[in-house]
Amino acid sequence: ARRTDEGSVVVIGLGRFGCHLSGALAAMNHEVLAIDRNPEQVQRWSAQLDRVVQADATEEGSLRQLGVADFGRAVVAIGASLEASVLTVLALVELGVPQIWARATSTKHAKILDSVGAHHVIFPEAETGERLAHLIVSRMLDFIEFGDDFAIAKVCAPEAMLGRPLSELTPTGRYGVRVVGVKLPGERFRYATDATVIAPGSMLIVEGDIEQVQRFAEFS
Ligand code: ATP
Ligand code: ATP
Repeated sequence: ARRTDEGSVVVIGLGRFGCHLSGALAAMNHEVLAIDRNPEQVQRWSAQLDRVVQADATEEGSLRQLGVADFGRAVVAIGASLEASVLTVLALVELGVPQIWARATSTKHAKILDSVGAHHVIFPEAETGERLAHLIVSRMLDFIEFGDDFAIAKVCAPEAMLGRPLSELTPTGRYGVRVVGVKLPGERFRYATDATVIAPGSMLIVEGDIEQVQRFAEFS
């Protein structure tokens, strides 16, 4: 059967996390159906979001009535109640929602959500904490990890690189990372070439092995 709301997203739980997520999706012009069991939360967000309804998401029948089975994607943003979070994921699995994202608040919670059938488990507190650790102690301005070993980072250019072409420095050079983008002061980001010469105040996009990216971004 064709899903009528393929591009739309159901967000369940309008705590701080769920509200920011719903707001961001709406700002990107995605249709959002937001569900919360607390009438006060529903009342509070009904002005900002198009469709906010009050329902207990652990009830498969209630979700079915709201048409949730027709949606392509659902996010379970409930955090504090492990039981509500797990039962809601289970209800979405039973309804056959093809992409279920679920928020975990601990590693065990994450394991349970995974075994119940969530397709993507997110752990925002852990992920933000880990990311921030890198940003605080280095020249990194942004950092994304892929798997256990690969990373891309936005980094202030180290002093040792100034005035020299990239060909002398990476990837086989002393740092072992690849510089893919360069933003010279006052300009926009461009693809890096071997001939690119780094000026003071430049920002770089570098990719490579996590440890090498980290070493590259250490304060010099
Ligand atoms: P945040 O950190 O995002 O503020 P939280 O962990 O502090 O979240 P939770 O108690 O997890 O808050 O609740 C998030 C929202 O999920 C609340 O608004 C709550 O009413 C809603 N919620 C909890 N259980 C259900 C349920 N069974 N059905 C629908 N909504 C629910
Ligand atoms: P999280 O979402 O990260 O779990 P939270 O908002 O649920 O955090 P908070 O009440 O903000 O939890 O507390 C986070 C930690 O900060 C707790 O361990 C608490 O003991 C500690 N904390 C709170 N106030 C102070 C303070 N004045 N000095 C030092 N530590 C504090």
